[in-house]
Amino acid sequence: MENVQTKKIVLVTGGTGFLGVHTVLQLLQQGYEVKTTLRSLAKKDSIIKALEEGGITDFSHLSFIEADLTSDTNWDEAVKGCDYVLHVASPFPAQDPKDENELIIPAKDGALRVLKASRDAGVKRVVLTSSFAAVGYSKDIEDHVFTEEDWTDVNVELPAYIKSKTLAEKTAWEFIEKEGNGLELSVINPVGIFGPAIGGITSASLDIAVSGILNGILEYTPAFTMGVVDVRDVADIHIKAMLNPKASGQRFIATSEGVMSFYDVAELFKKERPQYTENIQKLEPIGQEFYKEMSNQKAKILLNWNPRSREEALLAGADSLMKS
Ligand code: NAP
Repeated sequence: MENVQTKKIVLVTGGTGFLGVHTVLQLLQQGYEVKTTLRSLAKKDSIIKALEEGGITDFSHLSFIEADLTSDTNWDEAVKGCDYVLHVASPFPAQDPKDENELIIPAKDGALRVLKASRDAGVKRVVLTSSFAAVGYSKDIEDHVFTEEDWTDVNVELPAYIKSKTLAEKTAWEFIEKEGNGLELSVINPVGIFGPAIGGITSASLDIAVSGILNGILEYTPAFTMGVVDVRDVADIHIKAMLNPKASGQRFIATSEGVMSFYDVAELFKKERPQYTENIQKLEPIGQEFYKEMSNQKAKILLNWNPRSREEALLAGADSLMKS
């Protein structure tokens, strides 16, 4: 429990999202004053429903403000008075759009809008939700353990989402270096985020790798392994990076131990939750599996972050979806 007396004010962008709503939940549980942006105030009730499911009964410490990453409107107002900003919002569709700019523009320009407004308002630190997409998606090197030193090369052909996250993070670091004027930045690079959906708020990761497998929509296993992390641990690492003096200027890969293929995920469900698995397909691998490994040592050592296991994250995700 953080010090409730200090009542620090934190803005979370994208409270309507899977990670955004869990982050708002943990901040409220820890006694912060929380503001959250959403594209339309019409979605406010979905956030409240999810937070109620998470156990919140007093909403007097939460406020909502409409802001879109593609427009300047309201960002100054959103960050006003905030000690910290957790910039979580960024488009994460299940399928890449035809025009990559549909993702790149809101991701990159949106990050700049949030950083500029934060600098001008005297915010102490911004924590940006980047992705492992910005770390390890252009190098298919065998026997390489990816760390925070690695960067995805945007000069090779990449899916739009991966490019959007890499460009947004690069732009954010450049801004801090050249124009930050003392504003601090920490970056979190999560792998595939799973764990429980609250209030029915899911994300492309849960939709593809949990619903997609359990509902039999996925027929084949792509030839890669993925890191898995629980949304509760990703919210937690954002708060740790917000508070820890050593986190300023650093990026942190957020992953549990080990990696899995979609086939492994299906096998886990069959073993641990056989009652959900009647529709699962064979999930034969397409091509030879490529093993991509990444390290969570920096976050564990520097931030004292202890993520749940990948099995717990996936099973909690499945349980939450199957009960709703
Ligand atoms: P999500 O549920 O789809 O959340 C995305 C959030 O971004 C939503 O609140 C969405 O608002 C908001 N957003 C999208 N476009 C916007 C725009 N133009 N203006 C304002 N807000 C906008 O996905 P998530 O998994 O929680 O993702 C949260 C963050 O984690 C993202 O930065 C994502 O890249 C990152 N991440 C996710 C994963 C994963 O596996 N889930 C892994 C690594 C990193 P609406 O509700 O209005 O659409």
